[in-house]
Amino acid sequence: MGSSRSLLSAVQRETLHALSGESARFDELLSRHTTLKIGGPADAWVAPPDIDSLSKVIQFCIAEDLPMLAIGGGSNLLVRDGGVRGVVLSTRGLRALSVNSDKVVTVESGVSTGKLLSSATKWGLGGLEFLGGVPGSLGGGMVMNAGTYLGEFKEVTLLVRSMRLCDGVIVERDNAECGFVYRGSALPTSEIVVEAELKLTPRSIEEITEVVKSIRTRRKEREPSGASNAGSVFKNPEGDFAGKLIESVGYKGTRVGNAECSPAHANWFVNHGGARASDMLTLIDGARAKVAAEHGIELVLEWKCIGED
Ligand SMILES: Cc1cc2nc3c(=O)[nH]c(=O)nc-3n(C[C@H](O)[C@H](O)[C@H](O)COP(=O)(O)OP(=O)(O)OC[C@H]3O[C@@H](n4cnc5c(N)ncnc54)[C@H](O)[C@@H]3O)c2cc1C
Repeated sequence: MGSSRSLLSAVQRETLHALSGESARFDELLSRHTTLKIGGPADAWVAPPDIDSLSKVIQFCIAEDLPMLAIGGGSNLLVRDGGVRGVVLSTRGLRALSVNSDKVVTVESGVSTGKLLSSATKWGLGGLEFLGGVPGSLGGGMVMNAGTYLGEFKEVTLLVRSMRLCDGVIVERDNAECGFVYRGSALPTSEIVVEAELKLTPRSIEEITEVVKSIRTRRKEREPSGASNAGSVFKNPEGDFAGKLIESVGYKGTRVGNAECSPAHANWFVNHGGARASDMLTLIDGARAKVAAEHGIELVLEWKCIGED
């Protein structure tokens, strides 16, 4: 499929392909890279196989004045229908994961939360049980400070290393400098997280497994299944629940095209197949307007919206 609006020349495409370990795809539909299965094309999508290749891709994009944007597992992303101009940097290839004798885990940003949790369990290290049932990558988890009622990344993170998209330099931030807050952080969008160090605590494999099993069971009972989604749409307002507020205004089951406010959980909007970002955005605006009108509360999006209309 070709995009007449692509920013990239044929030479740039060839170079990006070579620099990114031949991972590059062009005019790549981002619906293939988001759990919502929504999103128009990126001019280029690359998944360099290691930090060194990522650095070369970034240096090239800087020299060629190509915009860049980082994505991880795409599990908290609504990509607009017009897609993304420039180069989408996927962390999928950054998969190194190790532990030292001080129980410090060093993990690259493309490692999935599932792999991280299963490795920590195997090593008899607790602290990540909160990740049971949370999809995505380490990098996205850091940016979002992903978490559940059992904890969040803020509690186990020693430091985060990110590569600046303006000059390719790696900067290191300790926990306080990351500015972790409820479902967010101060990690800037002008950088790509490449690696983090986490401090975990010895715990028996049986105990970890038991806790993870119970959080997964609890989630299964409460969360919609079957349709594509990206988890909670809105952050919970202080002292309240977004789902409760949306349900109270009679919004459950509201549909725009194939996008629906789930009848099973009002703060989960699902794609029944073929929904457009514009449908989802209309559904989001509708929920916000109703909750604002009836409760005077402005719901804040937890999803990140990227791309062009
Ligand atoms: C079924 C389901 C259940 C969920 N449950 C939970 C839950 O219980 N708790 C919770 O907190 N979240 C939950 N989520 C949301 C999501 O899993 C988290 O927000 C997750 O941390 C996002 O990680 P990701 O790698 O998919 O990030 P993406 O969706 O790819 O990106 C999210 C944001 O981070 C940026 N980003 C990603 N990687 C990098 C990087 N390496 N460097 C710089 N920026 C980056 C992106 O640009 C974007 O702004 C759920 C989602 C689903 C689909």
